[in-house]
Parts: sequence; C-alpha cells; structure tokens
Amino acid sequence: MTKTITIAHGNGGEENNELIKKVFYKHFENDILAKSEDAAVIEDGKLAFTTDSFTVSPLFFSGGDIGKLAVCGTCNDLAMMGAKPKYLTCSVIIEEGFPTRDLEKIVKSMKKELDINGAIVVSGDTKVVPRGSVDKLFINTTGIGEIEYKGLSASHLKDGMSVFVSRDVGTHGATIFAAREGIELESTLQTDCASLYPEVKKLMDSGIEIIALRDATRGGVSAVLNEWAKSSDVCIEVTEESIPVQEEVRGICEMLGFEAVDLANEGTFVLCVAKKDEEKALEVLQETHKTATLIATVSEQYKGKVILNSSWGTKRFLDLPTGELLPRIC
Ligand code: MG
Repeated sequence: MTKTITIAHGNGGEENNELIKKVFYKHFENDILAKSEDAAVIEDGKLAFTTDSFTVSPLFFSGGDIGKLAVCGTCNDLAMMGAKPKYLTCSVIIEEGFPTRDLEKIVKSMKKELDINGAIVVSGDTKVVPRGSVDKLFINTTGIGEIEYKGLSASHLKDGMSVFVSRDVGTHGATIFAAREGIELESTLQTDCASLYPEVKKLMDSGIEIIALRDATRGGVSAVLNEWAKSSDVCIEVTEESIPVQEEVRGICEMLGFEAVDLANEGTFVLCVAKKDEEKALEVLQETHKTATLIATVSEQYKGKVILNSSWGTKRFLDLPTGELLPRIC
C-alpha cells in the first residue's frame, strides 16, 4: 500500500481491491465479509444486506440524479443476490448553503425509485457541515432485502457456462464524463441508471437456473468478469465484438483513452447461466433491452483470467481496470 490514499484507491479496480483487502478485510475479517458478494447473505440465507455511499458530480445529469443513483445502487446490489429490496436507510451529509429546492428534487427522485422496487426508507440521518467541508451533498443508503432466489454466487461458475450482459455498456461513465466536461452531445446519450429488481424478478420467475448476477458498476464489466474468474477459479473467454457499445460511448472512450468495458454502469448487469438455459435467458433479457447479448463462455484454459478473443483470431487478457479512471462517478 502507498503511504496515503490516492484517487485510484476508489476506482473499483485493482487499487480499490488492494485497499479493501489490506486495510478493511485485515481488521474486519469474518466468513460473511470474505465472500465479497454484492450484498452480504445473512440469517441462514433469508436476508441480503448492503450499503453504498454516493458522491457523484454533478448531482444532476442526463437520465438521473444522485437520489435515483442512491436508491438504484443499493437496491440493485440486493437484487443481484436474488433478493427483493425491502427496507432502506438514508443518510445525507449536506454542505451549508445547499438549495432546499434541489434537495427536495433529489428526495422525490429517491421516492420514485423506491416505489419501483417496492421498498421504503425506515431510518435516516442528516448532517449539515460548514461550507467547503463537503462538496454540496453526499448520500449513504443501506438496504435489507428478502432473498427470493437462493444460492447465487460469484464462486459458482463452471466450465461451459454462458455469460450475458443485460444491455449496451458504459453509458453511465460516459454520461457523467460528458456532463462534467460540458461536452455538448447531439445525441440522446443518457445514464443507464435504473432499478434492476423488476428484470431480475422476470429471470427468477422464468424457470432458468441462474448461477450468478452482478451489476457492472465501478470498474465496469471488466471488474465483474475478473472477480468472477478469480472467485470461481475459471477462465472467462469473451468475444470482443459481441460486447454492445453505443456509438456515442465509443466516441467518448476514444477521447478519454478508456475501454467501454471499464466504464461504470448503474443499471446494467452480468448474468451467468448454464449452457442449457442460454436461449431462454437471452429471450427474457431482451424483453427489457434489445441490446442484451451473450458475450462470453466459461472455460478452464487460464484459470482466474479473462480472455478477449477478437474476430481476427488474436487473444489478450482483459485485466482489472487500474489507475484513476473517473472519480466521483457514483
Ligand atoms: Mg454491485
């Protein structure tokens, strides 16, 4: 570890994992935490429990705001464990001088998203700090969900299984970047920020055997695939051309020198199913987003690694994102 914390330690990638392991896991060590899932599974598999803080800048952006993000982020982590989001807490840290009207707009947007999930806020906290002590507004939400589909885990992937993305990738990261830099886009690019429970519910009700789900937030699809490859000790072989990316996102990636697979999403998940359920899974996913597609197959070629196969027959490792990426993305 470096002597001080850097921006890279919050990137959702390599340095972020190092910070979590070397500082937090070292002292908080226990069996539940060690599973490193999207949400902790507690009470004999009955409940899922998770927390997330939101520091996004700007607070309002195309397709969402910090309030929508704060509910989606926590509810989605519950949904990824097969849980129905039920109870949330809401803690806010507000900078002195913040417009009350904006605050109410943000809270209204939280309420709208809570309704989509069928969840309620049952406890909260408000802190106001002097001007300059925090940038405008930070929100923390913690959530409890009731597990409806048991056994989902990042460590259950096996040779021959199929991996999907639920829609085109990278729009949240690209949208925030564009908003921050004041880039005028002629397009209608907007964040993918959305509550995933309704779509997960369709999958759970479809009769297919779901192996793993994970929302591709910070660190993007790259981080999810790498975490799964490590947790399950398998190789994930991605067909590079199959990854769906919007033209506008591609353009922004070129400007930034980023890969769309490394960019954050807030309403996009990765799904692993058994080969036999491939067709049905795609059908259910495409009911919500036409861009949902099969992107990878699980193999045993290089255990713990993710490989990108191009149509020219070249292969390269897709590693965990490193470096500063985009801070304050969520
Ligand atoms: Mg997650």
